[in-house]
Amino acid sequence: DDRISRISSSIRVIPDFPKPGIMFQDITTLLLDPKAFKDTIDLFVERYKDKNINVVAGVEARGFIFGPPIALAIGAKFVPMRKPKKLPGIAYTLLVHSCNYYNLFSYLTYITSFSVFVICAFVPMTYYYTVSERGCWEVISEEYSLEYGTDKIEMHVGAVQPGERAVVVDDLIATGGTLTAAINLLERVGVEVVECACVIELPELKGRDRLGEKQLFVLVSST
Ligand code: IMP
Repeated sequence: DDRISRISSSIRVIPDFPKPGIMFQDITTLLLDPKAFKDTIDLFVERYKDKNINVVAGVEARGFIFGPPIALAIGAKFVPMRKPKKLPGIAYTLLVHSCNYYNLFSYLTYITSFSVFVICAFVPMTYYYTVSERGCWEVISEEYSLEYGTDKIEMHVGAVQPGERAVVVDDLIATGGTLTAAINLLERVGVEVVECACVIELPELKGRDRLGEKQLFVLVSST
């Protein structure tokens, strides 16, 4: 497909950014080429237009560039998956959802956080709903590991409904940590993640393996 080679050659590779040893795949040059940008969106739209997709979930920040035009073209809604503390909804479920019952420590964490939640959050939340009537959505979050340390993404629970079918969009898959977190967030609220879609894959980092059974569609593989 000619379109793939145009897309591939429009992506700039910057050595040693953001730190030494990293070959940064820069999609801003793809965006400067309207034909390559259109081809990128068209290829995703061709793949998803007849698959009954209700949700295109884009991961901050570059998933916000590719996700919305795909969503518009296939008649789906766009759901932003954001970095922590950017969404206005209430994050109280973070305490509950982030604790699994796998071990005693998690269980105790759950009990403690739940007690703290009841004591500290019940009164202000009751006020929030009954007095202020803002009717905010819940925010849930999912942590994932980076090369050094961890990061988190968040989503408004009220933005999606159980049983909806989603595609998760980002510019690039490296280790697969970000996409795995996005999949987990959606599945926790009953959404079916049909596939993940990225412009670029770095196959050496084996992110595809981390996604397990989940399908991954990419346009360009970069070594
Ligand atoms: P992963 O979680 O290791 O798969 O990393 C993927 C995330 O890191 C995506 O959100 C990408 O936007 C970002 N990322 C990692 N490396 C690059 C790169 O070379 N160019 C652009 N984004 C990158």
